[in-house]
Amino acid sequence: MDEKGILIVVSGFSGSGKGTLMKELLARYPDTYALSVSATTRAPREGEADGREYFFVSKDEFEKMIAKGELIEYARYVENYYGTPRDYVEKQLEKGRDVILEIEIQGALSIKKMFPDTLLLFVTPPCAEELRNRLVGRGTETMDVIQSRMDRACEEAEGMEDYDYLIVNDSLNRCVEEMHAIIRGEHRKSSRNREFIQKIKQDLERLKH
Ligand code: ADP
Ligand code: 5GP
Repeated sequence: MDEKGILIVVSGFSGSGKGTLMKELLARYPDTYALSVSATTRAPREGEADGREYFFVSKDEFEKMIAKGELIEYARYVENYYGTPRDYVEKQLEKGRDVILEIEIQGALSIKKMFPDTLLLFVTPPCAEELRNRLVGRGTETMDVIQSRMDRACEEAEGMEDYDYLIVNDSLNRCVEEMHAIIRGEHRKSSRNREFIQKIKQDLERLKH
């Protein structure tokens, strides 16, 4: 059966709970998943550490990374750059781990174009009011920034149908297990198991009278 790592893109409205969900998924299944750490030009939030949530870099450094081809994709999001370092993703996939990119929608679509096998997951809260409640409750942004993220959510909702699955983050526990189950299911797709199919066909032929 398919033992190669799958590239998984997780997008979703800011405040939908992607970060929380990823942390929990990785804590429960540390050997299965690898989370790519992006580079960004935005300032760290309280509690964020360089190299853990993001590699925090200047605009200059970010542009150098682009020029050297060190990013698989990058996008501008609410006044800042965000990008996925290439090296880590390639190495973890080779090791057979499922690599998760937590990135916004433009990045997701460009990854899907480059790697059509990518599984696209979209995290959403159960309703729009809950999104605003979570952004306000997180307490990390000013009301202005919260409003621009709510506006951006309106645009992002237009892209939800391009994703393979919706991950509704109502109860965290249920949501983490559902996401894990969806990814396990993805590994079992016949299109990802051509070698297995080929082999069992040959073996069946051999056992035929
Ligand atoms: P994102 O990474 O998508 O921007 P976060 O993971 O920072 O979102 O979550 C936004 C806020 O919502 C945080 O305060 C977090 O604790 C809270 N949160 C996340 N998941 C849930 C959930 N299932 N139920 C209630 N609150 C949640
Ligand atoms: P935040 O500032 O809330 O951490 O992230 C803002 C948005 O940028 C989120 O939607 C997040 O998924 C996205 N993002 C984070 N890293 C990357 C990246 O490497 N590439 C792209 N395209 N988006 C990213």
